[in-house]
Amino acid sequence: MPQTNKPTTKSIKHFSVKELCQTLQISALDIGALTQSEFPLKIPADFLAQIEIGNPLDPLLKQVLPVLAETNQVPGFSLDPVGDLNNNPTPSLIHKYHGRVLLIASPKCDIHCRYCFRRHFPYEQQINQRHWHKALGLINQDESIHEVILSGGDPMSLSEAALVTLIEKIEQIPHIKTLRIHSRTPVVAPSKAPETLFIEWAKRSRLNKVLVVHCNHANELSGQTAQLFQQYRLAGFQLLNQTVLLKEVNDNSDVLIDLSHALFNQGILPYYLHQLDKVQGASHFEVSDLQALELHENMRQKLPGYLVPKLVREIEGQPYKTPL
Ligand SMILES: *Cc1c(COP(=O)(O)O)cnc(C)c1O
Ligand code: SF4
Repeated sequence: MPQTNKPTTKSIKHFSVKELCQTLQISALDIGALTQSEFPLKIPADFLAQIEIGNPLDPLLKQVLPVLAETNQVPGFSLDPVGDLNNNPTPSLIHKYHGRVLLIASPKCDIHCRYCFRRHFPYEQQINQRHWHKALGLINQDESIHEVILSGGDPMSLSEAALVTLIEKIEQIPHIKTLRIHSRTPVVAPSKAPETLFIEWAKRSRLNKVLVVHCNHANELSGQTAQLFQQYRLAGFQLLNQTVLLKEVNDNSDVLIDLSHALFNQGILPYYLHQLDKVQGASHFEVSDLQALELHENMRQKLPGYLVPKLVREIEGQPYKTPL
């Protein structure tokens, strides 16, 4: 193994806010850090290594550091902003859109993103083998479904064996044509992302394979992510990215344009640029629709069409992600 000066994943497991600030040589007080949260700090070693030391404004740090502003109660910001709890035919299954269903494959993520709408979702009660069995039974009975989307939590936070076991079951359903995985793991924790068994499965699978990663800033990408994405591409995955528009992280057209280029350099096409889901605790990340439209227009001016993501928002009850 080559020597690396990154902290090991193990040493990060119970990283406190105080320890993170010490490691990054920033003052927890100056930055308004929150030391206790019901959705605690969780940061993988690979992601930490991409954060600039001594920069309290680092765009990656902003995504993971709990801050006092999260405790603000702001009207319009709720616990279940996208209505997931109302579209839940059986635990672990969310069916909102035609032809495709979302299966909660894991309650966990390798990182805790502060703006996440899932921060209040009761996923822990949402999955076990019995639930999957029932969900797959429902999918089996409904021939209008041709695509299964694994989501979470983060499906790639499962053990590789568990993930492959699940997707092999999905593959056995004859009317399923496409497997899609939504994951932030390959970007934030490439050294923990599934490789061997998963790639072997992909190479022999009859399914169309789509991996939608989640990257918000070009600084999240590295040589390590590039290598991983190349392997996934060679195994037959179509790689797409979704980004959440976040104040003081990527609310700047140069940052978004750089991101599109950086993604494409790693074989990934921009798919969605999401307006924030209005979840309690995330109001300080909000970017106005007016500014979002302006940023999007600037991207159109400078990028080829295939590198301009669709600017959308999820509105409860709508049959697709709604363009702004
Ligand atoms: C976002 C989402 C999808 C996927 O939508 P696409 O537009 O196909 O990417 C599917 N199901 C649910 C419940 C979703 O929230
Ligand atoms: S990885 Fe995705 S699901 Fe997990 S906390 Fe971040 S945004 Fe939410």
